[in-house]
Amino acid sequence: MTQTLPTFAPDTAPLEVLPRDLSAYRQGNTGIDYVHRFASGKPGPHVLVNALTHGNEICGMVAATHLLDSGVRPKIGTLTVSFANVEAYEAFDIDRPYENRQLVHNLNRIWSPELLDGTGDSPELRRARELRPVLDAADYVLDIHSTRAPVQPFRVYPEFERNAGLAQAVGGPAVHLVMPVGAAPGTGVTAYGRHGEPGIDGGAVVVECGQHFAQSAADLATDVSLRFLAHLGLVDPVPRVPVPVAARRFRLLEVHMVTSDDFAFVRPVLGFETFDQGELIAVQAGREIRSPCDGCTIFMPTRAPVIGREGVYLTVPV
Ligand SMILES: [Zn+2]
Repeated sequence: MTQTLPTFAPDTAPLEVLPRDLSAYRQGNTGIDYVHRFASGKPGPHVLVNALTHGNEICGMVAATHLLDSGVRPKIGTLTVSFANVEAYEAFDIDRPYENRQLVHNLNRIWSPELLDGTGDSPELRRARELRPVLDAADYVLDIHSTRAPVQPFRVYPEFERNAGLAQAVGGPAVHLVMPVGAAPGTGVTAYGRHGEPGIDGGAVVVECGQHFAQSAADLATDVSLRFLAHLGLVDPVPRVPVPVAARRFRLLEVHMVTSDDFAFVRPVLGFETFDQGELIAVQAGREIRSPCDGCTIFMPTRAPVIGREGVYLTVPV
């Protein structure tokens, strides 16, 4: 029997920022728990800042509580601040700090009419159904996430020009992961409803702020949230980054799901590693996952083989 290679990088990131009690934010003003809405009474866009889609994004919690605690109110339009998967967030266990990304379903994969209107049941399906009117009402969505690996922050959005322009104009992470329609597994928050369709106004983007527990991720999430609101005119302008940086875009080519317990990368990876065409990236159940192009750049490699979850995202620079 061959020895299994240690192909998963250990989680050594310091736990700088930890979850805190959110019970004070439960009672919102929308009739939906953990959803807070502020209308200016003036015309303007309806903007949603959404935290905790998976439940393990501490940075989003910090940004959303900052908006609420600082009493931010929109000058125009409407601002909604939501905490999505609070049930998963509350399942955080300091001894297993990477285990509360979801309870049953991935809340960022279930936004299709089939699942929302279907008969399936889970904490995430129930919460998505509750949050559906919140997403329906939003012209613009900022969905705040973080990564288990301490990689550079990046944007993720469905491949529409409106989203690319929005991400570029807001500033923040200059690396953009572009998802062609239908390429991502399931339907995410930013591809739900009209945000997944061409020819609409508005926009919906994810910001991946860095490592789940990093203070820098919390700081970035707060900064990007304020920039997002400022760009759309809801709050006063935030000082710009001195030199606008042209975005580096990566287009999603393939997502490989984990289908076997022996899923393993050929070497420890964190994300942003590159592979030449045909180069071996990972193996599972005797099946090879090889690079489909030169310069193939991997995103969000799994930290452990969990069957049914994403193993690795393969992208090409564009
Ligand atoms: Zn997330």
